[in-house]
Amino acid sequence: MDIDVVVIGSGISALKALYVAKLYNRNALAVDVHGGDGGYIQLLDGEDAVAKAPLFIDLDEADFLHSLGIDVKCYEVKHSVLKSGNYVLKTVGFIDIDVQMNWFIRWLNSNKLCFDVELFTKLKKSYEFPTYRPIHSVANIRKIDVEKKILALSTGTIIKYSKIVYTWPLELLPQNLYPNSIKNIIEQFLNQLELKYVSLYIYTTLAKSIEPKENLITIYTHATKASKIHTAIALHLHNKKIMYTATSYTKQHPLIPGIREKIVSELKKHRITNSIDALKKHYTNITYGLLNKINENILKELEQLLENHDIILFGRIAQWREKT
Ligand SMILES: Cc1cc2nc3c(=O)[nH]c(=O)nc-3n(C[C@H](O)[C@H](O)[C@H](O)COP(=O)(O)OP(=O)(O)OC[C@H]3O[C@@H](n4cnc5c(N)ncnc54)[C@H](O)[C@@H]3O)c2cc1C
Repeated sequence: MDIDVVVIGSGISALKALYVAKLYNRNALAVDVHGGDGGYIQLLDGEDAVAKAPLFIDLDEADFLHSLGIDVKCYEVKHSVLKSGNYVLKTVGFIDIDVQMNWFIRWLNSNKLCFDVELFTKLKKSYEFPTYRPIHSVANIRKIDVEKKILALSTGTIIKYSKIVYTWPLELLPQNLYPNSIKNIIEQFLNQLELKYVSLYIYTTLAKSIEPKENLITIYTHATKASKIHTAIALHLHNKKIMYTATSYTKQHPLIPGIREKIVSELKKHRITNSIDALKKHYTNITYGLLNKINENILKELEQLLENHDIILFGRIAQWREKT
């Protein structure tokens, strides 16, 4: 099979890459191991579409989305402190790390945040992709031969490509590269970059609203070790209440066994939610939740080297840059 652009991934960056390929009349194919598309904002299964993890939009970004014909709802932000303390340190899992962007702090520092439960679906629609099916084929990558420009999928399909747009996590890139000389060079770059991150475990619930507070996002924070959760975010949409509860973990301090039950009992204890009322519940692991600052010059050198081999890094976790 001959393909001009193979896009590895199925999140917002993959969607954008497919759209650009379409604009330039290139034939393109996206592949990802996960069935549903959307990446970080993949939807919960079922009738009520809710993203598994929170993504808020600034007012200026909301204007941009508006220009694409996407209307997002904006909310006042209210901060409710469950327990004060070193909140920043708790969000980074009590480790010494200099993160590029702490999303939780950013949300807390905003007066207004915009949100759309179906952002990914609406983006697909505005880029004229069918909304009833994923943007990608489900397959894993077995091998990328950068010399022959051949990519082998787990399904047995062999693709002759012109360019690859890679949106998967940067640290996973070398695992399928061939020949070994290239793979080794990329590994050396990654060693120099010293990628570090904080992972997030997010519990998402969708429940019936008892007292809908239509224009309010409430961010609850807990900043001591007495509780595992550090942030719970509640917002109402129509007659539903969406709640995202987050706990951070790292390689040094992994998730404790029974974390699910712990989160549910802590939410009850703080009287934030009653999980029995939840119509839907979901637990998501965001491995690359908060990204560390790295040496930009080394990263640019790596990007250039890969471009010389027709591999383009694109998106948050591939370029290791927030707000790409
Ligand atoms: C906690 C958090 C909060 C955020 N909040 C905001 C916000 O409020 N506003 C905003 O504009 N942006 C926010 N972002 C950034 C947001 O994620 C990006 O704007 C957008 O979703 C990135 O899309 P992407 O396609 O580049 O990456 P992703 O959606 O992360 O997907 C990249 C691809 O990598 C794959 N992938 C991901 N993780 C793994 C893994 N561990 N192993 C293998 N494959 C993997 C996915 O399946 C996908 O195909 C937030 C990100 C995080 C983590």
